[in-house]
Amino acid sequence: MISDTLHETMTAVIRRQYERAREDLSMRLHSLGDPDDDLVSMIEGLCTHQLHAGIVQDDLHALERFQLTSSADPARVFYADYNPARARRHQGAGRVEAPPGWARLHGGCYLCPDNILWQQRFGQFPARVPLPSGDFLAWTNPFPLGHFHITLAAEAHVPQSWMRTEREESLTTLRRRLVDLVHLADRLPRYLVFENGTGAGATLPHHHHFQALRKWPGLVRYPIEEAARRQEDVDRFGNDRVRSLTQPYVLRDYPVVALCWHGTAEEIVASLEADLFQWVVKDGGAEDWRHLTTNLIASRESVGDERLRLFLIPRNAHITRATGLAGAVASLELAGELVFAQEQERDRIAAGQVSYASVWETLASAQDAGSRKMVEAG
Ligand SMILES: [Zn+2]
Repeated sequence: MISDTLHETMTAVIRRQYERAREDLSMRLHSLGDPDDDLVSMIEGLCTHQLHAGIVQDDLHALERFQLTSSADPARVFYADYNPARARRHQGAGRVEAPPGWARLHGGCYLCPDNILWQQRFGQFPARVPLPSGDFLAWTNPFPLGHFHITLAAEAHVPQSWMRTEREESLTTLRRRLVDLVHLADRLPRYLVFENGTGAGATLPHHHHFQALRKWPGLVRYPIEEAARRQEDVDRFGNDRVRSLTQPYVLRDYPVVALCWHGTAEEIVASLEADLFQWVVKDGGAEDWRHLTTNLIASRESVGDERLRLFLIPRNAHITRATGLAGAVASLELAGELVFAQEQERDRIAAGQVSYASVWETLASAQDAGSRKMVEAG
C-alpha cells in the first residue's frame, strides 16, 4: 500500500517535471518564429512534438478524400473525407479518473489545463496564444480532422455559448468572439479557423474554444470561400451593385445563408464595431433570437494577401440534425467538407450515393427559415 506521504512527494515531482518540460517546449516553439506575427511555425512545431510524443494518435495515413463535383457546373465542388481513425475517438484518448492528489475539475472537462495534465498522462502540452479577449491555450487534437488541427481553449472554464440573458451583452460576447477569430485567421494564413456554436456542432459546450487546421495541400479555398469569391466578383464588377469592402454582405447561392466580410483584419474589426448590432439584431422576432446559435468561420487565403474572409452562419440551437449525416453539421461541414468515419459510409461515397446534390441538401437542412431570415432581411 502506498502511503499518503509518498503520493504527495511523487505528485510534487511529476508537477515539477511537467512544468519544466512545458517551459522548455514553450521556449523552443517561440524561437521557431516571431510569436507576434507568425503563429504557423509555433502551431506546426507543437503538433509535430505531440505526434512524436504519441498524443496525436492519427497521422491521417488512412484518410481518403473525395471530390464531389456538381453536374451542372464542374467548377463547383464539395469534399467528403473518409477517416476511419475518427471512429476511435469515442473510446477516449485519455484517463477518466484522476490519480491520488489530482483534482477532477468541472466534471473532468477535457479543456481545463489542470485536467489535461493527468488525463493525458503528463504528456500533452499547450502553446499560449494571446488574443484580444485574453490568452488562449492551443492543444493538439488526438484524432485530427486535418493536418495541424488544434483546439484553442480559453484559459478559464467559461461556456461555449455567447448567448446571455440580455441581448446587448450577448452581442458584445459574440462580437468579441468574431474579433478573436479575425486575429487568429490573420496570423494563420492558409488555415481554416472556426468556432462551433452550442447546438451547432460543439462537442464540448461547457468550455469556450476555437479550432484551426491547415488547408489540404493544393486547396486554396474551401467551397464556402469559393462561393463568396464568385459573389464578390459579380458584385464588384457588375453594374447593379456597388458595395463597400468594409461592409458585410449576405452570401447567396450556397446551401446556407451567411453574413460575410472580406477585408483586412483591421477593416473587418472596424466593421464589427460599427455594424454587427444592425445586422444581427434588426427587428428579428424575440423567439427566433433566443434560439440563435452560430457557426463562425474565418480564413486568410495566402501570406501574400492581407485580406481574409469571415463568415457568420446563423442556426437554430434546437435543430441539431441534418438529413443524410449521422453526426452534426459543424463549421467544417458548412465550409464544404464532410467527414465520415464508418466503412458503410465510405461505400456510399464510393458508390456515388453521396453526391454534390446530396451534400447541398444536407447542409441546407442544417439551417431553419427563422435563422435565414435573420440575416437575409439585412
Ligand atoms: Zn473546462
